[in-house]
Amino acid sequence: MNIILLGPPGAGKGTQSHRLVAERGMVQLSTGDMLRAARTSGTEMGKQVAAVMDRGELVTDEIVIGLIAEQLDKSSESGFIFDGFPRTLAQADALGELLASKGRRLDAVVEMQVDDDALVARITGRFTCGECGEGYHDTYKPPAVEGTCDRCGAVGAFKRRPDDNEEALRTRLLAYYKDTSPLIGYYYAKNQLKRINGLGEIPEVAARINGAIDG
Ligand code: AMP
Repeated sequence: MNIILLGPPGAGKGTQSHRLVAERGMVQLSTGDMLRAARTSGTEMGKQVAAVMDRGELVTDEIVIGLIAEQLDKSSESGFIFDGFPRTLAQADALGELLASKGRRLDAVVEMQVDDDALVARITGRFTCGECGEGYHDTYKPPAVEGTCDRCGAVGAFKRRPDDNEEALRTRLLAYYKDTSPLIGYYYAKNQLKRINGLGEIPEVAARINGAIDG
């Protein structure tokens, strides 16, 4: 099963992708994570996209389509979760062509609906463990022991994304409404769209996603 998790920044796409990976053995393809990894390893492409990402703007379709194309050759019996990709109509078309060329298909596009005030609250409080990638939140999901990762036990490894500040978030939201939200109509017309309420506790949202993709 290949699915897209679609939604604005802070909708919970990353959190729910991690869960689907753990529970179903699916492979998460997050272009945001790939771009951050390119920055950390200091590749030419990583340097090229750094400032664009920090401002909250979209990087070029060419770069992200290239990243996804490389990954689709990997085998994945349980399927792929596309997280943060596609974000433009051109990327959506390219994904359809890439999947078809590999003999794969898209099974569902899950739109996670979250109101804008909740997004700002979620994003401005979030942080992750730099060792294992576990996600946390100052209010909604603090670690049991301050400064220590519940999952892997790393101490002092928490980090916050440079684009999780109010100004970059406004730009990211604008990019979502301007460039990405047309995908809702696009996948609706293709009869692939499933809409779920993305507000609530992580397990509640998880149950709604399961219902949408298994139903
Ligand atoms: P994310 O982790 O999905 O929030 O992505 C972080 C940033 O990476 C975005 O604000 C963009 O600058 C860039 N990015 C990630 N995925 C894409 C994409 N599919 N198209 C364009 N830019 C992207």
